[in-house]
Amino acid sequence: MKIKVLGCSGATFPNHHPPGFLLDDRILFDAGSLADVLHERAQMKIKHILITHAHLDHILGIPFLADNVLNGRTGHSVTVFSIPPVIRTLKRNLLNSAIWPDFTVLPHSGRPILSLNALRVQKPIRVDEYRVTPYRVNHSVPAVGYLVEDKKKRRFFYTGDTGPSESTWERIGQQQIHGLIIEVSLPNSMGEMALKTGHLTTRLFQNELSKIRKTPEQIYITHPKPQYFNTIRAELRRLRLDNLTLLRDGQTITV
Ligand SMILES: [Zn+2]
Ligand SMILES: [Zn+2]
Repeated sequence: MKIKVLGCSGATFPNHHPPGFLLDDRILFDAGSLADVLHERAQMKIKHILITHAHLDHILGIPFLADNVLNGRTGHSVTVFSIPPVIRTLKRNLLNSAIWPDFTVLPHSGRPILSLNALRVQKPIRVDEYRVTPYRVNHSVPAVGYLVEDKKKRRFFYTGDTGPSESTWERIGQQQIHGLIIEVSLPNSMGEMALKTGHLTTRLFQNELSKIRKTPEQIYITHPKPQYFNTIRAELRRLRLDNLTLLRDGQTITV
């Protein structure tokens, strides 16, 4: 599985884009980065978007993509998947004809640009040739991470935003994760803030790792706050894990 990192930052600054992970050019996990980093032709290849939670830095690209589809007159359409509370929030608070036009009924209600699909936690669905299962994570709003499995049973798990969680790892159980994309938003000095806001520090991340039954083959760190990037990088280096990569925007990873 080839995953292009459109963005992997916990905030927006020049050269630091919010999360967006593009699998095989057509399945996007979180839409924090999208139309701001992909050319039009690449945008029109996206068929499915899976959202972990409704925070703005994870959904920002959806309205702009929809607008580009409309004005590009390509006849393209995109399916957006997430858990019901996220779908409701998108509909009520974003595509509500006030903040942005309702692209779930445009250009025609019978053939809209966006269709919103509710997922059930731990109920796998097929997205193209992949099996995708949402697992509940621990954030300040309803949120899931996605376990993605290909035909060869290679798996990656993308946590989205999460604080410490017992249930996530328990439920994933014995399944071998080949690529773990996990957040570390804050440095160790901000542990209290991390717990309060549903995020991980380096130390909390290390503790999460100890809860995973089968050690992930490769670990990729996402969502650091750019203000603390250097501190987090230094803390991660001190863990001396040779299968760990602190992600950068624009990078491609293979699972
Ligand atoms: Zn969040
Ligand atoms: Zn976030």
